[in-house]
Amino acid sequence: MTLRLYYGEALGAYGFGDGHPFGPDRLAAFWRVCTARQLHEHATIAAPVAAGQADIERFHTPEYVARVHEQSRTGEGYLDYGDTPAFPGVYEAAAMVVGTTLDACARAVAGEAARAFVPIAGLHHARRDRAAGFCVFNDPGCAIEALRAVHGVRRVAYVDIDAHHGDGVFYAFEDDPELIFADLHEDGRYLYPGTGAASETGTGAAAGTKLNIPMPPGADDAAFLRVWPRVEEFVRAGRPEFILLQAGADSINGDPLTHLAYTPAAHAHAARRLRVLAEELGHGRLVAMGGGGYNRANLAAAWCAVVEAML
Ligand SMILES: [Zn+2]
Repeated sequence: MTLRLYYGEALGAYGFGDGHPFGPDRLAAFWRVCTARQLHEHATIAAPVAAGQADIERFHTPEYVARVHEQSRTGEGYLDYGDTPAFPGVYEAAAMVVGTTLDACARAVAGEAARAFVPIAGLHHARRDRAAGFCVFNDPGCAIEALRAVHGVRRVAYVDIDAHHGDGVFYAFEDDPELIFADLHEDGRYLYPGTGAASETGTGAAAGTKLNIPMPPGADDAAFLRVWPRVEEFVRAGRPEFILLQAGADSINGDPLTHLAYTPAAHAHAARRLRVLAEELGHGRLVAMGGGGYNRANLAAAWCAVVEAML
């Protein structure tokens, strides 16, 4: 068994209250379908792991981490300008997401499980010094920093098929030539956060190492499959030693917050092709994160499609 599938109440605790699009019921919605389809029986189930403060501060500023600590204690106010509310224990919940993604990466590097899926994770909007768009700590950002600092893995590919642009990852590594970034997202003229124009290809020495593909509202599987080969070629050319996939389910038709119209087949295709590519590159390392997705049935179907493609 080479797919490590993370599941545990502690991971589901990351959510902003009942009735919120990013509510604490998202993990259970996925797990019900995953177990009904018996996918979990073919994977190694692993418990969530908490990140230490040092793990978080490899990406985030100590000032911001201290602020989250403080607002986690009071449970009051917002961690950004109004999208991401604090709640009691938000620090611990967000640290659990980071730690779980880090654990998945560490075990992939160690050769214990080359592939992993981490639901709830993929909080790609958080910046180094602030929360944004339901994202408190940027677990993929922390993972990229840990892969370099702890595991000596320099060349990392980050692929993002969430409906929203992965701005927190993009701008943190915009000038980093060893971070190969490919992001298919709804055109920023129509959707938060408004960034990710095709002209944003990286700066300085990193020019040409970033690929942003804005998709028009209503883009379906056929549109996805037309542009996907560009993503694959781009990642292959970058010769990454590790591949991260943010498999946000909010790009599926019927999401309440976005306007894309893929089916879970798009997510399955991305996961399957990246799995093949990782093997072709000689290491097989692929860690997928669940990302967004606010229609519960879509989220369950898309994440299960990713798990199935990675088994
Ligand atoms: Zn999203």
